[in-house]
Amino acid sequence: MLLEVRDLRVEFRTRDGVARAVDGVGYAVDAGETLAVLGESGSGKSVTAQAVMGILDTPPGRITGGRVLFQGRDLLTLKERERRRIRGAQMAMIFQDALSALNPVLTVGDQLGEMFVVHRGMSRKDARARAVELMERVRIPAAAQRVRDYPHQFSGGMRQRIMIAMALALRPALVIADEPTTALDVTVQAQVMDLLAELRREYRMGLILITHDLGVVADVADRIAVMYAGRIVESAPVHDLYRAPAHPYTRGLLDSVPRLDRKGRELYAIKGMPPNLMRVPPGCSFHPRCPMAQDVCRTDEPPLYEVPGGRGSACHFWRECLRG
Ligand code: SF4
Ligand code: MG
Repeated sequence: MLLEVRDLRVEFRTRDGVARAVDGVGYAVDAGETLAVLGESGSGKSVTAQAVMGILDTPPGRITGGRVLFQGRDLLTLKERERRRIRGAQMAMIFQDALSALNPVLTVGDQLGEMFVVHRGMSRKDARARAVELMERVRIPAAAQRVRDYPHQFSGGMRQRIMIAMALALRPALVIADEPTTALDVTVQAQVMDLLAELRREYRMGLILITHDLGVVADVADRIAVMYAGRIVESAPVHDLYRAPAHPYTRGLLDSVPRLDRKGRELYAIKGMPPNLMRVPPGCSFHPRCPMAQDVCRTDEPPLYEVPGGRGSACHFWRECLRG
């Protein structure tokens, strides 16, 4: 397994108390595979990724437990130098906002080239040539000229391509993309997702795609992990999850996006709001919003039950949910 996260816990200490932003999360992604991590904002999906990448804001964030196994070695217990070496060369991250992730005062050619100079010991001239190649690979028109431009001279979609080029420059084994297309308009979103999927196949890298948007994952992901209030509430191969969700929250999410196969059906909205992480409801944290909630849900916290077909659901009534 390329990456395996086990029982990861992250806390944020605030003046009002302790927020368990990540509360026992586990997931895995193999080479050449795409895992989508789906959840509303504040569900813990980005914080989990930041803990994996070692870029968590500390303090107030603190990893309080768990393991992050990268090719079998726990990044949380490795020596800092070794950990940094692995994260620098083997793992890369793509962020939502390319404009703030790129350096505004350097040309994109210099930024891309810098990767090769620093990590591969290339000359400036060779590094520049590699930068142009990379820009061509992510289909930036007139790359040989545009390599001299600054980030603000590119459109949002082109900037996102440049960020993808940066992430892939050193051929990392794992890429984590956090809402990579959220800031783009719908047509450009699809192009950028297609590019990412294509490069993932070509480089056989593992990809973790973090998103709040079920619409973008169907075509690119192999598996989905759905997060709610700092936990994974459902995990399944993407097509199984679409066909028959095993958790009412996932069902609510599916029913609230327009789908071609459900034309004419009224769109549904999950009632209420996700909980404040300092006051997570007892029992099943989803119970105040759940249309299937029973008494037991208010007192007994559901474990992640094993569901046939390599799936998991943190719902006492996953069988009923599966049956629809
Ligand atoms: Fe709903 Fe109960 Fe299942 Fe939680 S455990 S999702 S409240 S039915
Ligand atoms: Mg986020």
